[in-house]
Amino acid sequence: MCGIVGYVGYRDALGVVVDALRRMEYRGYDSAGVAILDGNGGIAVERKAGRLANLEAELDEAGAAKFAGTSGMGHTRWATHGAPTDRNAHPHRDCSGKLAVVHNGIIENFAPLRRELEDAGIELRSDTDTEVAVHLVARAYAEGPTAGDFTASVLAVLRRLDGAFTLVFTHADHPGTIVAARQSTPLVVGVGQGEMFIASDVTAFIEHTREAVELGQNQAVVITADGYTVTDFDGDTDVTSRPFTIDWDLAAAEKGGHDYFMLKEIEEQPTAVADTLIGHFVVDENGGRIVLDEQRLADQELREFDKVFVVACGSSYHAGLLAKYAIEHWTRVPVEVELASEFRYRDPVLDRSTLVVAVSQSGETADTLEAVRHAKEQKARVLAICNTNGAQIPRESDAVIYTRTGPEIGVASTKAFLAQVAANYLVGLALAQARGTKYPDEVAREFAELESMPKLIARVLETAPQVRAIARELAHVPTVLFLGRHVGYPVALEGALKLKELAYMHAEGFAAGELKHGPIALIEDGLPVIVVMPSPKGRAVLHSKLLSNIREIQARGARTIVIAEEGDDTVRPFADDLIEIPAAPTLFQPLLSTVPLQIFAAEVAQARGYDVDKPRNLAKSVTVE
Ligand code: GLU
Repeated sequence: MCGIVGYVGYRDALGVVVDALRRMEYRGYDSAGVAILDGNGGIAVERKAGRLANLEAELDEAGAAKFAGTSGMGHTRWATHGAPTDRNAHPHRDCSGKLAVVHNGIIENFAPLRRELEDAGIELRSDTDTEVAVHLVARAYAEGPTAGDFTASVLAVLRRLDGAFTLVFTHADHPGTIVAARQSTPLVVGVGQGEMFIASDVTAFIEHTREAVELGQNQAVVITADGYTVTDFDGDTDVTSRPFTIDWDLAAAEKGGHDYFMLKEIEEQPTAVADTLIGHFVVDENGGRIVLDEQRLADQELREFDKVFVVACGSSYHAGLLAKYAIEHWTRVPVEVELASEFRYRDPVLDRSTLVVAVSQSGETADTLEAVRHAKEQKARVLAICNTNGAQIPRESDAVIYTRTGPEIGVASTKAFLAQVAANYLVGLALAQARGTKYPDEVAREFAELESMPKLIARVLETAPQVRAIARELAHVPTVLFLGRHVGYPVALEGALKLKELAYMHAEGFAAGELKHGPIALIEDGLPVIVVMPSPKGRAVLHSKLLSNIREIQARGARTIVIAEEGDDTVRPFADDLIEIPAAPTLFQPLLSTVPLQIFAAEVAQARGYDVDKPRNLAKSVTVE
């Protein structure tokens, strides 16, 4: 999500760190900070909300002399816990001010750890999950078996943390040593001559060295100017990390070796969904319960809603359409899904027992923001689903669930879309739990299924070569149609939208049952139709109806490209191309079936020579109506 860099060597550390942050700014940009060690027991810290330029202005004002030193670290934040303010910006320090930490990710069990620290009389100074780590290390360093041992103190604390994190610690009394660790989030070491780097990605140090080491899961590393030692969290050096030589140029490195950010973002989807779910299920004496992020809606209110409206635009609207299937199924509360631009100029029936779910990646979408304001005027309660901490829509809403995908740079939404679907499903489960329409064990089971989706999404990514080959064959057809039923219908709409926005190709998504009411007239010889097949293990009637639809279009000459569950042999005779995805419960299948459609659209666009990250006429965040 965010950008992290650490440096130990002989150069001016501030220059190295700020340059690295500038190159990693695409990873997170709501605040930035540095800590530089002077080598004599001093540490200078500066942190500032907003773009990196704000921090640079502060640093200029403070003067370079204050930040003289040859080791230090820096961070660009993409907030998950706590608003993007100066006090929540990293680095965070312990009470002595000598120990500092920067963090990428989420410490899932921060709440009990925070209580433990508060009970011990420690006053925390930020709203982040991160700050607990620095105080815990300070305590381990002050007393007990690891007292006085910086590395051992960090390791002892790492063993207590749950979640996904990259953490980097510096201590003013150990200026030549940086201790870092990763669990799920990225961390690479840059190996120089008389200098060492650690960073979230290689762009941070590519201009100084091309020799790098990728840490494995749950590994820690200690760097000094002369070398590095990798261990597990118990300090055991018998672990495997991956040395490699960077052969990308800077631009390719930023994109993880891809030509476009969007392709990298498609690959990041398993992590995007997993991170969005982190911390939303808390085990308790009754088995466990769903918790939302900032929920200023009491369970009592969740019980009293008699209607849900999902309002959104573009891909977020398709995520809302999926939410309708899940929320109505789990809660028996009627759900309406509406384009934000239509909602606000109509006269929707809203009152204090209506829940409006506003979905917007940026949290700044003008139409959705106005819809939120309209809903609030009518006394409805508003829950935002958004990807940017502290943006306008969550600020004006009663509650928020953040999709934690990190910045999405490709204009066409991919990882944010899947994360929005997951977040919408969390709303459904939270409502079902509060209203008792699902037993606690059923809610827990659904959540567990949802949590298992990221590894299935990773398997769908393996279909990419096949999907790309089909896309290249079809790159110059005039039209592609998409068909789906039930939750496959919003997926068809999303597939068509991706193709329109990226490849400027005419594309339409239809509910398969509507075929005979019009669209079948479009079918002619060779017309490509992409069909999203429901699971044969789900509702049999859905599957058999769609099978008939495929037969009908194939009989009329369409070229059928079918996305179906592995082992669903019934579709084979009717599929000119068959793209197989893993089995998943019906409601969760869209998290899988959307992925080949994204890859398809991106490849068609590339084959047609278009800029996948910046489609013509489009903007990432639509802040005008
Ligand atoms: N969870 C931490 C925070 O909100 C770190 C976020 C990040 O990865 O930048 O401060």
